[in-house]
Amino acid sequence: MNEYEKLLARARSQVPEDAFKKSGERFKVPKVQLIVQGNRSIWQNFQEIISILNRPGKEVLKFVAGQLATAGIFEGSAAIFNGKFSAEVVDEVLSRYIDSYVICPVCTRPDTTIVKEGNAYYLHCSACGARTSIRPV
Ligand SMILES: [Zn+2]
Repeated sequence: MNEYEKLLARARSQVPEDAFKKSGERFKVPKVQLIVQGNRSIWQNFQEIISILNRPGKEVLKFVAGQLATAGIFEGSAAIFNGKFSAEVVDEVLSRYIDSYVICPVCTRPDTTIVKEGNAYYLHCSACGARTSIRPV
């Protein structure tokens, strides 16, 4: 490793730490609260979680239902899926959504919005200004 590479490696290793310091507090998403009623799974704190994520419920519902390979609907502040799922499984799917569509891959902060340009979708980060190409949900 030459001096320049060392410098670069050090700069890179410092990025997540600095981003973390700036954010002060980690992005907190509550655990999925889910109950099974008959053949349906009711995600009770759906509305609360999507408002923290700052994402349209329709989009999150579509992603989660797609990953669970079932159908989902809104009912009040809950989302209801056909079939029996555990809170852990839905939590895991939600983490996947957050990693792909909420967290900025450059600075790891959640201050992002999804921007559509033509047929392309981008995750735009208001914290670091990065624009990342993403797949549509
Ligand atoms: Zn960023």
